[in-house]
Amino acid sequence: MESTHQALMPILAVAGIGKSYAEGHQRRTVLADIGFEVARGECIALVGQSGSGKSTLLNLLAGIDKPDTGDVEIMGRSLGAMGEPELTLLRRKHIGFIYQFFNLIPTLTLAENIGLPLELNGAPARQRRDRVRDWLAKVGLDGREGAFPDELSGGEQQRVAIARALIHEPALVLADEPTGNLDARTGQIVLELLAHLFRDEGRTLILVTHSRKVSEITDRILALDNGRLSSNTEWLSW
Ligand code: ADP
Ligand code: MG
Repeated sequence: MESTHQALMPILAVAGIGKSYAEGHQRRTVLADIGFEVARGECIALVGQSGSGKSTLLNLLAGIDKPDTGDVEIMGRSLGAMGEPELTLLRRKHIGFIYQFFNLIPTLTLAENIGLPLELNGAPARQRRDRVRDWLAKVGLDGREGAFPDELSGGEQQRVAIARALIHEPALVLADEPTGNLDARTGQIVLELLAHLFRDEGRTLILVTHSRKVSEITDRILALDNGRLSSNTEWLSW
């Protein structure tokens, strides 16, 4: 019964989220009354003009930042009710991040970067080594364990970052403009890799993008406009 219940429950439920920042003597509202649910296995494009609050929303979804109002539930657990240690554990086990500027650790080898989530989760060294080797192959970088991030191109670094985001098999992956710093062709390759890695995996992806083409291959589009969810996507670029 428990597993049926888990399968039907949305992986993510957002209700009444509001967030504002102090600006001089006033407060500027970045997000207002945001509510939505995401089913397990869904692939969602989060779109909105620069400054519309996309990164802020991702940080709230991961419990990195706290909303002024409302709550986020991941797998039925309220982030608002969790303390920092619990949030850290939840992120380590269930969430993967992919960033625009890759965020690899320059002093660590590719193997150490990719293996970091497993190390933080206490996986034994041997298992780490095997899984890192598998993931390097999955992202087309077989045998590059000992290389350092600055020896790679941007597209290769993003492929390493994808392996790092997925190696601990998180239920939810948050990608913040993962192709925003790549040329069009390299971006296309990275997106195809992401789509391939998500097909049939039952993993959930929320992908921030400016591209209509990208948003069209996802199951659903969430658009932010003036801090609110909107159906207006006419300004999306190709
Ligand atoms: P996007 O990712 O859609 O480009 P962001 O979520 O980064 O937008 O930012 C939304 C708005 O919130 C911007 O106007 C930004 O300046 C503001 N903002 C984000 N973080 C902070 C912060 N820590 N302090 C003050 N303002 C912030
Ligand atoms: Mg952003």
